[in-house]
Amino acid sequence: TAPTAPLRARAEIDLAALRANVRALRARASGAAVMAVVKSDAYGHGAVPCARAAVEAGASWLGTATPEEALALRKAGLPGRIMCWLWTPGGPWREAIEADLDVSVGGMWALRELVAAAREAGLPARVQLKADTGLGRGGCQPGGDWAELVAEALRAQSEGLLRVTGLWSHFACADEPGHPSIAAQLTLFREMLAYAEGQGVRPEVRHIANSPATLTLPESHFDLVRTGIAVYGISPSPELGGPADFGLRPVMTLSASIALVKHVPGGHGVSYGHRYVTPGATTLGLVPVGYADGIPRHASGAGPVLVDGKWRTVAGRIAMDQFVVDLGGDEPATGTRAVLFGPGDRGEPTAEDWAQAAGTIAYEIVTRIGTRVPRVYV
Ligand code: PLP
Repeated sequence: TAPTAPLRARAEIDLAALRANVRALRARASGAAVMAVVKSDAYGHGAVPCARAAVEAGASWLGTATPEEALALRKAGLPGRIMCWLWTPGGPWREAIEADLDVSVGGMWALRELVAAAREAGLPARVQLKADTGLGRGGCQPGGDWAELVAEALRAQSEGLLRVTGLWSHFACADEPGHPSIAAQLTLFREMLAYAEGQGVRPEVRHIANSPATLTLPESHFDLVRTGIAVYGISPSPELGGPADFGLRPVMTLSASIALVKHVPGGHGVSYGHRYVTPGATTLGLVPVGYADGIPRHASGAGPVLVDGKWRTVAGRIAMDQFVVDLGGDEPATGTRAVLFGPGDRGEPTAEDWAQAAGTIAYEIVTRIGTRVPRVYV
C-alpha cells in the first residue's frame, strides 16, 4: 500500500530485508527448518505480508501465540504449517483442527479439550506437546506430569483422534551465552524427548531454539528453530552483537513529518511538566507521534530522532500524540521527515537506541507501534 498523501507518520516495512533475514537464518539453522514467528502482528510489522514474505524466503513453518492469530493467517490464504501455543479454556479448538493448525498442549486440561473437539469434528488434531524444561512459564513439568500427558496423548492417538507432530520447549536465558540454565534446559529437553520417544511418540519436529539460540547455539537447533525478532532484523540482545554481526537487517523504519518549526527564546518550558527548558534561543520542531502510537513515554528527554542529517533528542515529555525536539536553531521545512528509527546505516537511530532510551528491549519498541501508524510495504 503506497501512501497517496503525505503521512503524519509511517512505518515502512522492507520486505526484501525480511526475506534476506529469513534466508540468513536458514543458513545458520544447521539444516533445521525455520519457523517465522509472526505473533503480535508480526512484532508490529504486519502479520499477513510478513508471513507471506517469510514463506517465500523459505520459512516452512509460521508460529503465533494465540489461535486467533493463526486462524487469521489461514483465512488470509497462508498454506503450510502454522503452529499456535497460547490456549485458554474454551478456545477455538475445533476451528483450529478444521484449519489444520498445529496446536500446542502443555497440560491435561488442554489435551482433554482438544480431544473432545477432535471427536466432535471427526478429524484428527495435530498436537505438539510442550515441556517446561526450565522457563517456568507454560508447558508440562517433567516427571509424572509429562508421563501422564504423553500417555494420554498416545491413547488419543491410538483412537485416531490426534497425531503428536511435535515435542517442544522454550529457553529462559538463551540471550545470555554461558548462562547455566541453557545447558540444564538442553539436558532436560533431551531427557523428556527420550522418555516420550521411548513410549512410542514419533514427532516430526523437536524444537527449543528461539532467535538467540538460533544465532548462537547450534546444539539447540534439533529439527526446527522458532525465530521471531531476528526475522525482523533485530538482534535479540545488544550483548550478543548487532544485527549486521549476524547478517540481519532491521525491517521497520519509523518516521513522522515535522508538523511545526518555531523560534523560541531561552528559558522556554517545553511540553507537559516543563521537564525541558530551552538553554538559549533556539528552534523547536513538533514531531506528531506520541505514546498512543507506541512511542515509549519512558524515553522522554532521551529518545533520538534524525532530522536533516542530525540527531536530535526528545525535549521534555512525550505526550499522547506528539513530542518536541530542540533543533538548535536549524529551520527544516515543515513536512521534513523525522526518522525515529530504522536500519541505522543511513545515519538514523535504531529501535535498539530507543530501547536503551526507554529502559526496555527492542522487541517492545517495534511491537508496540500502534495501529494509527500505517504500515507501508516497500
Ligand atoms: N517461541 C516462542 C514460544 C515464543 O514465545 C517466542 C517469542 O517470544 C519465540 C519462539 C520467538 O522468540 P524470539 O523473538 O526471541 O526469536
